[in-house]
Amino acid sequence: MRSLYVHFPFCESKCHYCDFYSIGAERTGETDPLLFEGALQAECRQWTTALGNPETELGQFDTIFFGGGTPSMTPPESMLRALAPLDLPKRVNDRTEWTMEANPSSVDRKRLEEYRALGVNRISMGVQALRPDLLLALGRVHSRDAAFRALDAIFEAGITNVSVDLLCGVPNQQVADVERAMEELIRYPITHLSCYLLTLPKTHRMFKDLPNEDEQLAHLLAIDRFMTSQGFEHYEISNFARPGFRARHNLAYWTGKSYLGLGPSAHSFDAEESRRWKNFSSLHKYAEKLKKNESVQEWEEVLTADQRDLEKWMLALRLSDGFPRTWVEDEAREGKSAGLVRAGLLEKHPEHEDRLRLTARGFALSDQVITTLATA
Ligand code: SF4
Repeated sequence: MRSLYVHFPFCESKCHYCDFYSIGAERTGETDPLLFEGALQAECRQWTTALGNPETELGQFDTIFFGGGTPSMTPPESMLRALAPLDLPKRVNDRTEWTMEANPSSVDRKRLEEYRALGVNRISMGVQALRPDLLLALGRVHSRDAAFRALDAIFEAGITNVSVDLLCGVPNQQVADVERAMEELIRYPITHLSCYLLTLPKTHRMFKDLPNEDEQLAHLLAIDRFMTSQGFEHYEISNFARPGFRARHNLAYWTGKSYLGLGPSAHSFDAEESRRWKNFSSLHKYAEKLKKNESVQEWEEVLTADQRDLEKWMLALRLSDGFPRTWVEDEAREGKSAGLVRAGLLEKHPEHEDRLRLTARGFALSDQVITTLATA
């Protein structure tokens, strides 16, 4: 387990499109933050032995990710107390990438300096949009000015590895809005940008207002065009990085490495045993179990050979590094991959002759490509 994820469940308010486990302030009980701190501490205690000796390389983390929810709502001193059993200062080294998610309305320079002192060296900030009416429609609590103030604060606090999250495919959002947002954001020296297509369940009240597939495709292609023209690598379906700044924690997920997830709703994966599990998505259930020193796993599964094969395809196709050409040299896939090349969805890797990868259009239509190749 060289990668650690910690889920912080609190948010200022629940965004209209959010399906993460998070509790808006209006539903957070007065004692919930303390309950979470104590429970997380107890879960950390359960893992200290399994994580190995922190004095050895194997007992150290390559990457740490504080996600949520909004981790930047948890004060650094509370994080310190909750995570104390892990002895994190001993489990990190100069190469550890330590990311924390933040929202514009919950950070200021002083707080950021304290997180930095804790060891956080990368911030991933949820901006999502910069047009005020889109922010409102999404249920975000921050304004466009708050987003800029937060970016100023992050860089003033001395954090230089900064990622920003945007959404595209939002009802009433035009290609020009996404382009303008990217233009405004890259005036800051950000190193990374994630841009996700808004997806909603059919029962969601905003579902009927989502742009159609052609418009969604236009958004995704415009983002690829703009970000690559600014020197960012489009290295994953929804992710762009300056050279040398790919998100190493997410890459651990996408390359099938083991990771440990702590906190309510967190997922974990043990690559050696092909075993995946998930914690309860309820703070109170999570805390109740830990009070009795019981497991907080809601479910676990060991992947079958077929599931592992499907996962291999899903992971390989999402990265611009692509996959070995030999994977499609069997009878079932040869014709299909040639068809995908003709359709402009798959291409020879420009630097590795023996590999294939998705084109920008292929990234935008990745579900279609994955279905075609993985289930052949
Ligand atoms: S801030 Fe993020 S985690 Fe919290 S409600 Fe909004 S989308 Fe969900």
